[in-house]
Amino acid sequence: MSMINTVTGPINAEQLGKTLIHEHFIFGYPGFQGDVTLGAFNEEAALEEAITIARHMQSFGVQTVVDPTPNECGRNPIFLKKIAEATGLQIICATGYYYEGEGATPYFKFRQALGTAEEEIYEMFKKELTEGIAGTGIKPGVIKLASSKDEITEYEKMFFRAGARIQQETGAVILTHTQEGTMGPEQVRLLIENGADPGKIIIGHMCGNTDPEYHKQVLDQGVRIGFDRFGIQGMVGAPFDQERVQTLLPLLNAGYEDQILLAHDTVNIWLGRPPVMPEQAAKIMENWQPGHIFTNILPQLRENGVSETQIDKMLGGNAVGLFKGSAVKVIS
Ligand SMILES: [Zn+2]
Repeated sequence: MSMINTVTGPINAEQLGKTLIHEHFIFGYPGFQGDVTLGAFNEEAALEEAITIARHMQSFGVQTVVDPTPNECGRNPIFLKKIAEATGLQIICATGYYYEGEGATPYFKFRQALGTAEEEIYEMFKKELTEGIAGTGIKPGVIKLASSKDEITEYEKMFFRAGARIQQETGAVILTHTQEGTMGPEQVRLLIENGADPGKIIIGHMCGNTDPEYHKQVLDQGVRIGFDRFGIQGMVGAPFDQERVQTLLPLLNAGYEDQILLAHDTVNIWLGRPPVMPEQAAKIMENWQPGHIFTNILPQLRENGVSETQIDKMLGGNAVGLFKGSAVKVIS
């Protein structure tokens, strides 16, 4: 039996149900901690808001959400546990650091200059996965790894190697961030070279790339991928949803339906001061909320002949396969 750690304790893969594989309840770009005077965290208000959001997700039948917020971007397992306890939503949190360009790099870079960082990253993963985060007893359910646009930097490679190593010992799922959908094939190669199990890897944000042939280079290595940024349009290098759908359809037609998972990568509550988007951007981004796939994207997929079975896989069944580490059939 494969058990998955949620913030309220272990569950079976079969208990996942309808799953959003990548959403953030709270998130802050590193540096938010310094804006504490104007951007203080009001936990009571945030919790009320987060519970409303969780219930909104549940209104579409969602039973599980993976919140892969990196450790240094405001990851808060106790806050997530409170949301889960209040609503019954199953929430899975992560252990890991963000990519070099937007993560908090000085800490482990300094330690690496002393010659020790990769081993220490491994120890951090191990302690959190086996004993829990910071004395809370809450264990992460996924290892979060991230790389830059067109490059996996030396800094990032330390986390990938340590992540592959700890996966072999714990069996935890690896969930990645690709920047604008680049370096997907390279991430998979690096992880497999270091001993990771392709059946337990999901390469995230691949919908940032709109070439189905590129996606196949990742899928044919036996991993799963995330079309996990629906609603993010015209920002952070993201394509439009219409282009995502036009990339997804040929992949489904080519038989990759067991390897694709859907989500929005929403940030529901920002740490620090909430960002204010310029009017035009706000209009383009208006659907970036966790009901968007159900309300707007699934009808488009159905119109294009995507079956209910395929939809159920991309919003649940494939998460079960991922957490069980089921091998996917590779089409070539
Ligand atoms: Zn994310």
